[in-house]
Order: sequence, then structure tokens, then C-alpha cells
Amino acid sequence: MKLLEERIQRDGTVKEGNILKVDSFLNHQMDVELFDLMGKEFRRLFADAPVNKILTIEASGIGIACVAALSFHVPVVFAKKTQTLNIDGQVFSSKVDSFTHKKTYDIIVSKKFLTPEDHILIIDDFLANGCAVLGLIDLIRAAGATLEGVGIAVEKGFQSGGQRLREMGIRLESLAIAESMDASTGKVTFREQPRQS
Ligand code: 5GP
Repeated sequence: MKLLEERIQRDGTVKEGNILKVDSFLNHQMDVELFDLMGKEFRRLFADAPVNKILTIEASGIGIACVAALSFHVPVVFAKKTQTLNIDGQVFSSKVDSFTHKKTYDIIVSKKFLTPEDHILIIDDFLANGCAVLGLIDLIRAAGATLEGVGIAVEKGFQSGGQRLREMGIRLESLAIAESMDASTGKVTFREQPRQS
């Protein structure tokens, strides 16, 4: 999505350790008009998928998922990060290694909100090594729900997550795929994606 790529070039900053900072428009201050266009693009890309629920992970996926949900006319469920694992059996849980925080945490979703009838689209802000998305896929599998696909705002194509998911046969649509990022110049290059706007 050209508009997102241009915005990353203009307002994003590249940090040491392969971190792209986009907190002026994506995951701290949020440009909801850009989110609206991103949500419509996800809808266009997954137009043929019978999505009835969007699943994301707190905190930074929630804003994008909620605005996208307006285009899909479906509810959003977000997985909660927790340190106290509920052991009364009322939640699905999985473990996620955090790329940005360098630690492992549990994620949970109440069993009330993921069922075998659900057709799920996962939405998140970033895809790096894929741990967050794989954790969400664990929850979907535990519930017996159907995964329709994964929509990502920014995929870092030089990390392993995208390849892992595509090799698993998962339908993955990323609005911008960063091929390289240079912390000294701040330059980001993007992969060409002919199907996108
Ligand atoms: P993964 O689980 O795919 O390794 O990493 C994805 C998660 O880490 C995302 O939910 C996102 O919050 C965070 N993340 C990974 N890379 C970046 C990055 O370059 N910039 C920012 N802001 N967050 C990132």
C-alpha cells in the first residue's frame, strides 16, 4: 500500500536492532484516517474470505483491528497478555516470545469468544519473527475455529515470520513489506506488491 510506505519513509525512524519506530502514526499516536484506508485495503484483499471475527493481540494491534472491523462488519477479540495464567479452564492460552521486549509471556482469550463456528482473520501491526501470530494461531486451533488469513500492517521481510507463515500455507497479506532498513541513514526499502493499491 503506497500510502503506508510513503508515510513510513516520511515519519518512521529506524532504530538499532532492526526496530522500525512508527509511533507518531501507527502504535502510539494513531492516524485513524490512515487506519480507515488500511482497513478498507484489508477488506479488499480478503473480500472472498467468510470472515466473522477479527483476532488481534494487545496493545498495538487493537486500534488497527477495530478500524478494520468497521469495514468487515464483524467484532474484534484481542488476546490479553498476562503473567498470571488462569487455571480454571475458561481460557485458551499460548506462549509468545516478544521481539521488542525480549521476554516470554502468556496470551489468553476467553473460551466464550473463540468457537468452532468462527472464521478468523488475524490482524496485527508488525510481523517480525512471527511469534505473536503463531501464538494467536495456537489459540484458534485450540478453539477448533477456522483461520481465514493474516493481515499485517508492516511486515519486516528480512525476518523469518512471513516466510514461516507462507510455508505453512497460511494466507498472509501485508500492506507494506520492508526489505531492508538502515539505522544510519534511516532509509527503508519495500518489496513490490503488484496486487495492492
Ligand atoms: P513477532 O512476534 O512477529 O516477532 O513480532 C511482532 C510483534 O512485535 C508485533 O506485535 C509488534 O508489536 C512488535 N514488533 C516487532 N518488530 C517491531 C518493530 O520493528 N517496530 C515496532 N514498533 N514493533 C515491532
